[in-house]
This record gives sequence, C-alpha cells and structure tokens, in this order.
Amino acid sequence: MHELSYMTRLANLACETANENHAKSVKKIKVEVGAMTGVLPKYLEYYFPTVIKGTILEGSELETMLIPVKAHCNNCGKEYTPTADNDYRCPSCKSIEASIIDGRDVKLKEVIVD
Ligand SMILES: [Zn+2]
Repeated sequence: MHELSYMTRLANLACETANENHAKSVKKIKVEVGAMTGVLPKYLEYYFPTVIKGTILEGSELETMLIPVKAHCNNCGKEYTPTADNDYRCPSCKSIEASIIDGRDVKLKEVIVD
C-alpha cells in the first residue's frame, strides 16, 4: 500500500508547514495527485485520519485533486494528454517522443491553518 507511505510523508510535510507558520491548528490540507502515479485519492482519504492522529493536523480535512497527465511533444512542442484514444501520441504530429510534464507527482499543494 504505497498510499500509506505517501500519506505519511504528506502529513509530515503539512505538520512542518503548520509549525513554521506557528499555527495552532489546521483546517484543511490540499493535495494534488498525479494520474500517472497510480495513487488513488480514496486510499489517501482512508489513511488520513489514522496518520494525523495526535498531530497538529488532527481534526483537519483532506482535499485531493486529481491532476491529469500532461505531455510535451519533443517534436512540435504541443502539450497534450496521452490517452489510449490518441495512442499516447502527439495529436498534431503523431510523434511518440514526448516528455511528461505533469501528473507524475503527489504534492502537498496547500495547508490552510487557523
Ligand atoms: Zn507533436
């Protein structure tokens, strides 16, 4: 279950951020989940209450946002979302040479404190 390790890491990071901001409590944390990571937001949500128990995050809310995969075509420079529909190729030049520029990380986006 790598969602548990992701959630633990995100919660630690959120705690650090809250402490740095001298927060008394945290209302909500926002997390971006890249579609390419294979991480399922529902599992992050499932582990969240356990992971934050006894920390400054206890009682806060977890908001997850799924970030679609975005590729940058190395041939023509177009940005697109690789899917089975476009055969994971660039829709304008059909090149398969692309760099993934978004959707491959799980990131702590925001910590909303009191
Ligand atoms: Zn292209």
